[in-house]
Amino acid sequence: MEKYVKVAVDLPVKQVNKPFTYHLSEKLREEVKVGHKVKVSFGNRKLEGYVLGEVDEVDFETKPILALASPYRLFNQELLMVARWMANYYQCYLISALKAIVPSGEQKVKKKRVVKLAQSIEKTEQIIKQIQNRAPKQAAVLSYLIEYPDANLIMTELAKKVDTTSGTVRRLKEKGLLFYQWLEVKRNPYRANDFAQTEPLDPTAEQSLAIKRICSALNEVNSRTFLLKGVTGSGKTEVYLQAIAQVLAKGQEAIVLVPEISLTPQTIARFKGRFGEQVAVLHSQLSIGERFDEWRKIKEGEVKIVVGARSAIFAPFENLGIIIIDEEHETSYKQADHPKYHAREVAVKRAELNGAVTLLGTATPSLEAYYRAQIGDYQMLELPTRIDNRPLPPVEVVDLREELKDGNRSMFSSLLQEKLTQTLERGEQSIIFLNRRGFSTFVQCRECGHVMECEACDVSLTYHAHSNLLQCHYCDHKETNPDICPECESRYIKYFGLGTQKVEEQLQELLPEADILRMDVDTTRRKGSYQQILSDFKTGKADILLGTQMVAKGHDFSNVTLVGVITADTSLNFPDFRAGERTFQLLTQVAGRTGRGEKSGEVIVQSYTPEHYSIQLAKEHDYESFYQYEIEQRQGCLYPPYSHLINIIVAGEEEERVIKLANQLGVIINSYLHNLNSEEIMLLGPVPAPLSKLKGEFRWQLILKGTDLEKLRQVNVESLEQLREEESIETVRVSIDVDPIGML
Ligand code: ADP
Ligand code: ZN
Ligand code: ZN
Repeated sequence: MEKYVKVAVDLPVKQVNKPFTYHLSEKLREEVKVGHKVKVSFGNRKLEGYVLGEVDEVDFETKPILALASPYRLFNQELLMVARWMANYYQCYLISALKAIVPSGEQKVKKKRVVKLAQSIEKTEQIIKQIQNRAPKQAAVLSYLIEYPDANLIMTELAKKVDTTSGTVRRLKEKGLLFYQWLEVKRNPYRANDFAQTEPLDPTAEQSLAIKRICSALNEVNSRTFLLKGVTGSGKTEVYLQAIAQVLAKGQEAIVLVPEISLTPQTIARFKGRFGEQVAVLHSQLSIGERFDEWRKIKEGEVKIVVGARSAIFAPFENLGIIIIDEEHETSYKQADHPKYHAREVAVKRAELNGAVTLLGTATPSLEAYYRAQIGDYQMLELPTRIDNRPLPPVEVVDLREELKDGNRSMFSSLLQEKLTQTLERGEQSIIFLNRRGFSTFVQCRECGHVMECEACDVSLTYHAHSNLLQCHYCDHKETNPDICPECESRYIKYFGLGTQKVEEQLQELLPEADILRMDVDTTRRKGSYQQILSDFKTGKADILLGTQMVAKGHDFSNVTLVGVITADTSLNFPDFRAGERTFQLLTQVAGRTGRGEKSGEVIVQSYTPEHYSIQLAKEHDYESFYQYEIEQRQGCLYPPYSHLINIIVAGEEEERVIKLANQLGVIINSYLHNLNSEEIMLLGPVPAPLSKLKGEFRWQLILKGTDLEKLRQVNVESLEQLREEESIETVRVSIDVDPIGML
């Protein structure tokens, strides 16, 4: 009887989503299982693919599987289910979802040739006696191997141990007293003894309650999601650690996700310090080989915990007890490329398949997560105070319009200048945060703070230089770029975009004695430079750390007593309905960088619109009120979490083609919606995307909005199918983003 398998083939141009059937030769019959990577012939090419399962009977001609391409089964049934779920939820090819799950790069197992004793211990001891005087070094080598039979040293290492040369070892081998053995080794990016062992802390009453509720959920059959809302410095990590200890005690495993940027040695030390060799670490700074070996440690059950960035959510554990996502609100949990998955959603899905617990920790929950906690989908846990009742730092908001009126044209208000000087004089450190994103072309009046916005969509208008027009990228409303402010008639109306280098120059001019460290994409390009800057700052090698988003995240510096935010407005006026949420989160996070040690800290936020609710409520550390205000806005405009969005981007090198196809797709969707007679689904666009030209491609976007995601997907799939039938769309790329978190 022939044996057949279904294979998801990795086609270079992806036009088909269905698997192909192959048969197995006699030789491969027993070897090939679900999850194996295999080589297959496809047309006249040889391609790779993943085995999805067996097929009973086939009534057509099949080709054979050519070879196994991986020594391991790269996924099991559970992860295959996750992949299928992702492909459906995020509207991507199954093969893309599978490739996100399996370890990337070539899966090479590293080996080394170690030296072992060839004779029995008794025999070797006799020989040692015989050669002791004549050849003491040879005797020493043999004695060493008797004492440390599991040392697994290669020749040169062994020689070094007893202070001799490789020649000595070689001679013993020639005499037949030693032999060489190839051993598989796993690279180890971190050694356990680099981390001081820690013991569980006595939990506070609040921590204790949280831990108790998590532990009782661990004993339930059904999965559960907790939202742990704890202010910065409230001891969330200790809750994670004690929950993990319970999971291990039950013989289960734990996944801990942290944002890539927070995967510092300091963070890793907290987990390795408590759980030592039971912890694997996965992130992009590791080499492909190191990552593969960490993956193997998980697969083979050598470790019970993985700490990693987004993709560690696919760690191949077989008995998951808990998935922890620290800083749940971070946008880096959403993957930018296909499959455009959100690690939080995958976590909840995996937890459901495993009857596990998901624990989301943050000081500033995403609106989605907090909303779900409000409606009872998630369970709420709270740590409302900092450890030792340390106060949250006072936040002062400076009105930059007033500064301008007083004749201060610099980017540093007089208050910030004064505080920076005082901090320097006290020998303490400051962080200056430049709120900037790669894309910032809103138009704002420096005199009155007015920002040009779309009245219909409640988002800021985007300045397009080539046309000198302001455009709403949700609804396509256009207007001319004003020369004077429509509110106050000032001429100080300009679009924004301040560079870190510029700020550094001005800062140095202001404080010539200060040592300044700058952290941005330019200074962190080299591998390890990001860590270097952080550790230089931590050890006091500089007085001021100046940087973008990177300085805002999770770092713990005890000597930082001042945080300054140059302008809060940049993130506020991003053309995105989440601009207010991002700003609140950012300000709360940067504020959390100070006053963490014995000394108290303070925060100065500069803004042209200090009255904005997200600035005022961040000043008060008032998440509750922020949420109440924001959620009403979302409900009013039917934005998430009250709806789902699908962002469709049409991109290509020929602008005319892109515009034509985007418009044609728009017509198809509209007629589809008309026939569906559905008021619940809206189409926004087609319009040029805010990043209307990127890497030589023109980009247009269409946004589907509605409450029923299943229906949205159906509209999306069927409209695209119809477009493909009507037109050849080879010259453009259509990319789908379900539940987008940024819409550039
Ligand atoms: P968060 O992650 O909520 O910002 P951390 O976990 O960094 O807070 O905790 C802040 C500080 O408090 C850390 O130095 C941590 O070691 C300490 N800490 C946490 N829990 C306790 C406790 N129960 N007793 C004493 N110190 C604690
Ligand atoms: Zn104005
Ligand atoms: Zn609009």
